[in-house]
Amino acid sequence: MTSLLPPAPFSGIATFGRAPHVTSAAGFDTAILGVPYDSSTSNRSGTRFGPRAIREQSLLLWGYNNVQQVNPFEALKLVDLGDVAVVPPSILATHDAIEAAATAVLDQQATLITLGGDHSISLPLLKAHAAKHGPLAVVHFDAHPDTWDYEYLGQPLSHGTPFIRALEAGLIDRDAYIQIGIRGPTGSPQDYIDAVNLGARMITLEEFRTRTMSSVLEEITQRIGNRPCYVTLDIDCVDPAFAPGTGTPEVGGLTSYEILQLVRGLKSVNTVGFDLVEVSPPYDHAGITAILAANLVFEFLSLRALRERGA
Ligand code: MN
Ligand code: MN
Repeated sequence: MTSLLPPAPFSGIATFGRAPHVTSAAGFDTAILGVPYDSSTSNRSGTRFGPRAIREQSLLLWGYNNVQQVNPFEALKLVDLGDVAVVPPSILATHDAIEAAATAVLDQQATLITLGGDHSISLPLLKAHAAKHGPLAVVHFDAHPDTWDYEYLGQPLSHGTPFIRALEAGLIDRDAYIQIGIRGPTGSPQDYIDAVNLGARMITLEEFRTRTMSSVLEEITQRIGNRPCYVTLDIDCVDPAFAPGTGTPEVGGLTSYEILQLVRGLKSVNTVGFDLVEVSPPYDHAGITAILAANLVFEFLSLRALRERGA
């Protein structure tokens, strides 16, 4: 009997899910892109090592998603484009390189899934996607709103500001911007007030805990409707007990099961792009944060596969 299993997870070169490594998305429908950039973090760094760690843990993904009943590695034409050539001393040069790389993928009609890197990288990614689709619905999983209305240490761009900059630039549809998992101490109540005044529907962790999963998912999907939707997932939305490998951990977060269920619940949404950011392997333990991240990317791929199948 021939084996249906892929090669042993500990062998070979680690592209995401053993997708071919090609530097153009031509001929593929879904592309993985790494952005090993962490120069705009406000606390501990290390997310430059995130893409490599997530790829390594992805080798444990056997292929069939038993919950969604799809094998995304079979259903999709997946490519791993490798990493953007980031410029650590310059966030502007790095963001330009990210936007150019993302635009090239979208011009090839492929769906882009980006592995960070710190959360600042979502701004050029949103620029590229909004240039193609117009203002985007956004589902933003995070412990933090990332809508600081002041410049962090005098700088307008950092991992605390991508969404205020995106809202100011009209990249996000303010009627369909949802933040989930927000919690923890802030400098003042103004942080949350500013996010809500900018248009965010903020589902704090405390609100989430008072509701059922299905009611939260129903609200999200109804609010988004048929809009093109970008999903951005900061791994610190998850409790540090499940995802310690991140730069700005906040206690009392989602469980790994809850974030899997939240992502799976987006299957009726027209998702046009994804990123997963803030995985910092130097603070990880036993690879658990990178394992969770690899599985969440697998869920992103499964959502794409279901849409391709016309489900
Ligand atoms: Mn965060
Ligand atoms: Mn964030």
